[in-house]
Amino acid sequence: MTTTPIERQDLVRMIACEDPDERKKLYDSAYDIKLNQVGKLVYFRGIIEFSNICTKNCYYCGIRRENTAFNRFSMTKDEILECAQLAHEYHYGSIVLQAGERNDPDFVDFVTDVVHRIKLISNNDLGITLSLGEQTQETYRRWFEAGAHRYLIRIETSNQNLYRSLHPEDHDFDRRLACINILRGIGYQVGTGVMIGLPGQTVEDLADDILFFRNLDVDMIGMGPYIVHHDTPMAVEATDFNPARQLRLGLNMIAATRIALKDVNIAATTALQALDPRGRELGLKAGANIIMPNITHTRYRSSYQLYENKPCLDENAGLCRACLSHRITGIGEEIGYGKWGDSPHFHKRNQSNK
Ligand code: SF4
Repeated sequence: MTTTPIERQDLVRMIACEDPDERKKLYDSAYDIKLNQVGKLVYFRGIIEFSNICTKNCYYCGIRRENTAFNRFSMTKDEILECAQLAHEYHYGSIVLQAGERNDPDFVDFVTDVVHRIKLISNNDLGITLSLGEQTQETYRRWFEAGAHRYLIRIETSNQNLYRSLHPEDHDFDRRLACINILRGIGYQVGTGVMIGLPGQTVEDLADDILFFRNLDVDMIGMGPYIVHHDTPMAVEATDFNPARQLRLGLNMIAATRIALKDVNIAATTALQALDPRGRELGLKAGANIIMPNITHTRYRSSYQLYENKPCLDENAGLCRACLSHRITGIGEEIGYGKWGDSPHFHKRNQSNK
């Protein structure tokens, strides 16, 4: 059966949708596509935010280099391994290692060793996603060979003018795009994503973001509503910040992306929950299939705030697991414990390339 590709104007209409009945229909359609294309299971990626030291200075981000209003930390290898061990015991299937961006040799060696050791202690059971920004091809290759098999690098917006307004001059859109292609060439499952509801961003920009995902043929999407952090330069532009609008746009984007891309993995990100206590469940009902429980030691969490009002800062990993399991089964979804939950899109593309 062939289906007509979704056009830009269809995406604009979906993303701009405000009427509650129309939105319900949109989310239901996206949910049906999710069930048909990636199934009913929700996969967990236990996220370890292991360092807030960052060499970059993005105007919207709470841990940008020039923000001195909080303490910097880096977890030790043993602390990271402890968290990974917990994820393994909880049968989470996969973890995400995320940190501010660093490219120095010590950092590259550190991550290589941590990835290698997590594969060893989990007997290769844990899948590993990295979210560590722009690196050289050699570094990406070393981390892949150490055992990481997915990489998330958000483009933040596909509109290059908007990108320039979000970043200092030495942050380069083309370099970031090149990283996505390098990662693909090495063999990673590659994810990207954007911020939704940025100052100056239009629904047409967001529709173009989805077309950008489709043209790049990515396997995973990790995107969330923009939330203001007041210790950042961008906060002064976000004077009409409206949480209800941000949540609506975030859910509409998930649904429109599911309808357009069909068989990719899409995360219901924590930013949705920062806007509404049921945000992540709403994301799952709008077509997302991935949840990233925070398994970072609670003592570090308050120092890793890319945006304000981040939820679950003092909820330990055990409470988080119980809470999430309750929330997810409460909406009739099932959890894919102990499974990697790879993107079906990745495997289909690889099979068709053989
Ligand atoms: S968005 Fe990422 S790269 Fe930019 S300042 Fe924040 S942590 Fe660093």
